[in-house]
Amino acid sequence: MRARADVVIIGGGVAGCAIAYHLAQKGCNNVILLERHYLTSGATGTCPGGIRFQLATEIKVQLVKASAEILRHLRQEAQYHHDLELKWGGYLILAYSPEQLEILRKNVALQRSLGIGVNLITPEEAREIVPQLHTEGLWGAAFHGGDGQASPFHVTHAFAQAAQRRGVAICTNTVVTDIQTRGDRVTGVITDKGAIATSKVVNAAGLEANRIGTMVGVDIPLSAERLECCITEPVEPFIEPFVISFWPFFGCLQRPTGNLFLIGAASGLPEGLDAEPSCQFLLEVAPLLVRALPALRNASIIRQWVGLVPTSPDEHPILGPVPQVRGFYVVAGLSGQGFMLSPIIGKLMAEAILGEEPSIAIDKLDLGRFERGERIEPPFPLV
Ligand SMILES: Cc1cc2nc3c(=O)[nH]c(=O)nc-3n(C[C@H](O)[C@H](O)[C@H](O)COP(=O)(O)OP(=O)(O)OC[C@H]3O[C@@H](n4cnc5c(N)ncnc54)[C@H](O)[C@@H]3O)c2cc1C
Repeated sequence: MRARADVVIIGGGVAGCAIAYHLAQKGCNNVILLERHYLTSGATGTCPGGIRFQLATEIKVQLVKASAEILRHLRQEAQYHHDLELKWGGYLILAYSPEQLEILRKNVALQRSLGIGVNLITPEEAREIVPQLHTEGLWGAAFHGGDGQASPFHVTHAFAQAAQRRGVAICTNTVVTDIQTRGDRVTGVITDKGAIATSKVVNAAGLEANRIGTMVGVDIPLSAERLECCITEPVEPFIEPFVISFWPFFGCLQRPTGNLFLIGAASGLPEGLDAEPSCQFLLEVAPLLVRALPALRNASIIRQWVGLVPTSPDEHPILGPVPQVRGFYVVAGLSGQGFMLSPIIGKLMAEAILGEEPSIAIDKLDLGRFERGERIEPPFPLV
């Protein structure tokens, strides 16, 4: 391991790897990325990789638009040899009550005002898009055909491999145990494999970002939202869009490989970092999925796991430098949109680290907003 770096990134999830990629693209390649396990071993490797423009605030929509542009060109620009499994099949968001439909109506109005071609549709129209959909009890849906999905594994590795080719050192199985400071400045990082002298540290440690923050006396407010996921054996083409309900939360998407990715949240489970899959998930969520998509009754599940979403208090990312510790940057609390937003977050963080003009203003997403009482409140309750 190198003993000195211009920038040390902690965390080999999609966010850390995207930052490494954009730094290297800008010619900053004396960079070390430290990952305690393997790349994608955190939240990134548990998520379905959904990309949706149907988001509740202007800043998120702005970020996802820019991310989608990066993703469209990533395979070529990163000279990545595998398919990113990028597919623009849309998101169909279901409403099972007049109140839910009203929330979708307001969201659709907001998103359309931001140039997103999303539509509020009837149950019959939803069924034309997804012939497998059972519409009993359905009041309507929101649909945007330009939403999509990609493989979190391939996207993360595409960023990481391109960064490595440009000189970034990626050290897996390397745990950050402390951060050194002198006065109010970062001076180095201590790992279980040795020390690295540096003046810039990026904390992209996912749910561990709070623990990393305490190493320099900074409190990063995070909680873990527990979701459960299953993957089925591959089946014939079944659904194009990601079919999802937020109330209660469940969803199904089909991977380009044919496997169905099922996701949901069960009630009454322990909070915190418990990552044991539960029977309750299947008992509660499977009936909801089968009600919406009856053909799922015959699907064979081959794996079930828990994913912990690193969630900030206002479900918006926490981004940027921390003024009280010079050289310390936070990229945390990416919440339920961390995969889709990381491609542009990587670029914005690289700009911040290199002192460049930001391509999108992110000062309102700083850590200080919680102390100032300036949380970002979505106008309507949709994340
Ligand atoms: C079930 C589920 C479904 C989701 N669905 C979507 C979706 O459809 N679309 C979407 O955009 N987002 C989704 N998300 C959210 C998204 O997965 C996360 O926001 C995103 O992956 C966070 O990326 P990250 O790089 O910040 O964190 P992580 O992927 O958690 O990476 C952090 C890394 O830091 C490492 N680390 C921690 N401590 C240390 C240390 N001391 N030393 C070295 N390394 C350390 C960890 O091992 C980890 O690999 C979902 C999340 C879950 C759990």
